[in-house]
Amino acid sequence: MDKCWCGNDKLKEYSKNYFLCSECKSLVSKKAFEDSIYHVEDENDDLYGENYWEEVMTKEAGVNSTDEIIDLYLHERGIYWLKYIVKYFPFNSKVAEIGCGLGQLSYLMKMLGYQQIAYELSPAICKYVKNKLNINIVCQTFGKGNEKYDAIVAMDVFEHILNPQEFLGECSEHITDKGILCLQTPCYDETLTYDKMRCEKPRFEKLMVEEQHIFIYSKKSITQILESYGFYEIIFEPAFFGNDYDMFLFASKEKISVNSAEEIDNHFNHVESGRLIKAMLTLFDANRELELCYQTADADRSSRLEQIEELTKMLKESEKDREARLGEINDLTRMVQECEKDREARLGEISKLTQMLQESEKDREARLKQINELTRMLQESEKDREMRLKQINELTRMLQESEADREARLNQINTLTEMLYKKR
Ligand SMILES: [Zn+2]
Repeated sequence: MDKCWCGNDKLKEYSKNYFLCSECKSLVSKKAFEDSIYHVEDENDDLYGENYWEEVMTKEAGVNSTDEIIDLYLHERGIYWLKYIVKYFPFNSKVAEIGCGLGQLSYLMKMLGYQQIAYELSPAICKYVKNKLNINIVCQTFGKGNEKYDAIVAMDVFEHILNPQEFLGECSEHITDKGILCLQTPCYDETLTYDKMRCEKPRFEKLMVEEQHIFIYSKKSITQILESYGFYEIIFEPAFFGNDYDMFLFASKEKISVNSAEEIDNHFNHVESGRLIKAMLTLFDANRELELCYQTADADRSSRLEQIEELTKMLKESEKDREARLGEINDLTRMVQECEKDREARLGEISKLTQMLQESEKDREARLKQINELTRMLQESEKDREMRLKQINELTRMLQESEADREARLNQINTLTEMLYKKR
């Protein structure tokens, strides 16, 4: 498409398959469409023929047959939608469902007493649904005739509509003054770029089916288009698959009155299959609660698993480190032992040296005594030597005197001898 439903033809690039209308904030399929897409003549080749349900939708639902889709939709989205429908739709009112698909929601509404009519495009599917669920179903596009409805439901339909103004015009024309329009359609978050959406709301990409979803609305753009047809009262309820995926809304031209819990319960108890549906709703709610518990528990489990993995990694590292330290400890222990051995050897040496030192000390003292003794003796000997020297000097002097005397006597003797010889 080269133009948005709002008339803006200056579309911006959003993704490979979609443009963005920056005027109304809708996504616009890049594919070209014609009105003929809603005509089913060839059940195999036409877009919304029998093949759409037997192949495309069974694959999307992850089941093997259209029968299985009915069973699946009945106990999940069908009963979920019904829970809100009984809250807003007047009981026993006339309700039209546009694009009823395999008819499970209309079937539930019929069981709950609504006067329903359902619209679908494929003759083969209409026949199949009539056969399986025995609901009031017609094979045509919505809008023919003069009938007015208290409520119009179009679940997962609006995004497939090529001309949404024409569609809402028909709805507006065929709804009572206080009538309620109920839609579920994909919800484009206008605050996110394509890349951010892929990160933050990855499930949304599954809705970007360009060959089926012609316009994908944001809350802003759906409000804009609904208000342009007088549907000013719009209530958004939580969408079955989550608000990051779809939007689920009730819209009216007048204030929507809400059925009270007592009124709803009373209605359930007075309709033939009401108690059964009430039981289904109770089970649905219990199941949702369990799902939530499971999700919480599972998220907790995942985070604990992450913790365990992290701790295991840390433990392994720590174990490796412990082994390395053990190696170091062993090395250090060995070194300490060697050091201890060395210390003991040195202690032995020290003892020996101490002992030698003590002996040497003792010896030194003995020698000191000897030295003292010898010194004293030396001093005495010195004194004696001096005395003897004096004696020697005295004796020398006496000897010299004696010698001198002897020489004098000898001279006398010689003289006397000479004198004697001369007299003879
Ligand atoms: Zn637009």
